[in-house]
Amino acid sequence: MTSEDLMRRMERFIHSERHVTSARIARAFGGDPEGAVTCAENLVVAPGLSWEAGEALIALVADGRVFWSPITRTAYHLDGLFLDLPVSYVQRPFDEPTWLPAAFNSPRVHRRVMEAIRLMGGVGLGPEILDPDYGKRLYEIQSEIKCERCGRCCTLSNPISLEPQDVERLSAHLGISIRKTIQRYAGRVEVGGRGAWAMKRTSPCIFLDEASGLCKIHPTRPIVCRAFPLLSPRTVGGEPLAEWCPAARYL
Ligand code: SF4
Ligand code: SF4
Repeated sequence: MTSEDLMRRMERFIHSERHVTSARIARAFGGDPEGAVTCAENLVVAPGLSWEAGEALIALVADGRVFWSPITRTAYHLDGLFLDLPVSYVQRPFDEPTWLPAAFNSPRVHRRVMEAIRLMGGVGLGPEILDPDYGKRLYEIQSEIKCERCGRCCTLSNPISLEPQDVERLSAHLGISIRKTIQRYAGRVEVGGRGAWAMKRTSPCIFLDEASGLCKIHPTRPIVCRAFPLLSPRTVGGEPLAEWCPAARYL
């Protein structure tokens, strides 16, 4: 395969999948746990890629066919990558290897994500930081987790954090602008003394269909909903997660 073939296939994959972590690109096009694409001295934006996949991605970005935007590290955890590096969402050189979790987008989606990031003032906080070894163990047993559709998480969780990529996906799904999506569905909250964005209406979540107990936006639900309960804190509202969520008792 020529590298242009690889680039074309990778470009199609990224354009069709919307917000793609390098962990997913690695699974589709070749991975290397030691591989990393950097964008400034010691700043890792795309970990886990083979040399060939990394070169194709760099060339796509250099050609303006693919762009990257910062994303919560939880998106990487969902794709099974738990990197043991300090995280920064600021693009500048660092003395030590530092991770700037990034998602890769088509030019059109990238413009929309950057608008969401501008309006929201940056990437959100995401759930509690997972110890990489604990995260890897959880990821390995995820097939044991069977959601019982009790609807508790969608009824009682508060806040339900929203990332710029969540807003972008939701806006596309609902067919309304990024600004309107934020105005209608997002609100500012304080988590651990820091500001973040979350779903405006909870208890229950505005997108819960109470009759069926199902999520009305399931294919486009926020990252934090995808991560629950697998990557959640071990306690919710002071209650052990395993007692709070029936699916979590397998953890
Ligand atoms: S609380 Fe747990 S079991 Fe109930 S719907 Fe949520 S994930 Fe599923
Ligand atoms: S967006 Fe969907 S999955 Fe997430 S809390 Fe609301 S109803 Fe539940």
